[in-house]
Amino acid sequence: MRIGDTIYLDHQASTPVDARVFSEMAPYFGESFGNPHSTDHVAGWRAAQAVEGAAARVAQLIRADADEIIFTSGATEANNLALLGLGRRAAGGKRRRFLVSAVEHKSVLAVSRVLRDQLGYQLDSLPVDRLGRVNLSALRDLAADDVLAVSVMAVNNETGTIEDIPAISSLLEGTGIVLHCDAAQAPCAIDLGHFNRHVHLLSLSGHKMYGPQGIGALFVRREIKDALEPLQYGGGQQQELRSGTVPVPLCVGMGAAAALLGGAEANAERERLRLLRDKFVRGMMELPWRISLNGAAGAERHPGNANLQFEGFTAHNILGAVQPRLAASTGSACTSGIPEPSHVLKAVGLSAEQAAASIRFSIGRYTTEQDVDAAIDLVKDALSRLADANMLQSA
Ligand code: PMP
Repeated sequence: MRIGDTIYLDHQASTPVDARVFSEMAPYFGESFGNPHSTDHVAGWRAAQAVEGAAARVAQLIRADADEIIFTSGATEANNLALLGLGRRAAGGKRRRFLVSAVEHKSVLAVSRVLRDQLGYQLDSLPVDRLGRVNLSALRDLAADDVLAVSVMAVNNETGTIEDIPAISSLLEGTGIVLHCDAAQAPCAIDLGHFNRHVHLLSLSGHKMYGPQGIGALFVRREIKDALEPLQYGGGQQQELRSGTVPVPLCVGMGAAAALLGGAEANAERERLRLLRDKFVRGMMELPWRISLNGAAGAERHPGNANLQFEGFTAHNILGAVQPRLAASTGSACTSGIPEPSHVLKAVGLSAEQAAASIRFSIGRYTTEQDVDAAIDLVKDALSRLADANMLQSA
């Protein structure tokens, strides 16, 4: 996958829209432009049918039903609707605590702080081990009957660590605690089949799964629908949970993207990613510098993710030196540019210096072996130049 001369290894920041997805979306920008909430004419009915079909395809990813899918503008909004929605509705109740893993995306962490600072909830951080997996015995100890909700992501956006959501779900069974899962990074990494039984709320993002940007979804298990307060009010669309006209072409795109990731070919794609990623990691480790892999290995990791630590270098300098030929990331795209060490890498035990020396490479659907080989050469060349410059400076 190249954008002009640039090798793109940043699929966890955003994926390109699959051409098959784009072609399904196209008619809804043109002749089928009706408002899906217009109930008086056929143009509206057709649009509503398209949205319904898209919701069914998204739902199928986790074996849910179409009416359990609420379209949002992305996973950030889905996370906000899940947690703030729960917190606002339950204000004044006896469940006063949220348990949130230490490695969550900022859109979960920031909302959790609002729940604490503005709504008076107690916020407990769930610790993770050195591979980024939530400590289940800490969760068991903390999961008392004053806990309203637990939020643990399915797949980490920085380290690629896959959390054991089924185990967390069974640990919470019978407690009355709501389980929210940010699964924005999950569809490309794992088969989410039957997650409808494991979690009550699940967030997805279109542009992390070869769908368009600006669309996401929150799965709301039918029996907890009334536990959420909406974040925006208006025409009462989407079962009163998210007012506003839904964007039909984007919904159709997200549905098409979900359909491509729900079938058997998705597992073959994950296997292909794994082989390419392993080749990339091996190639990097063979370079004559101290380069190591942060986070989990093998099956507990997103098959396209390689978070590598370059001892003695900074990610910022390496990425600068490979511009404009290679796109990768210093961490979550949302924190890039802010010169503070990644909270995820800190939570898995890295020092500020080690975190600053770490780069996330993420391989995707259109990445080729040639891309991977060329990326290794580019990094090798950059490290040589940086090492030479360093020698000169210290001479
Ligand atoms: N959660 C995770 C794990 C993510 O990786 C991202 C995207 N960086 C988000 C939430 C936010 O998604 P969106 O861009 O759709 O708001």
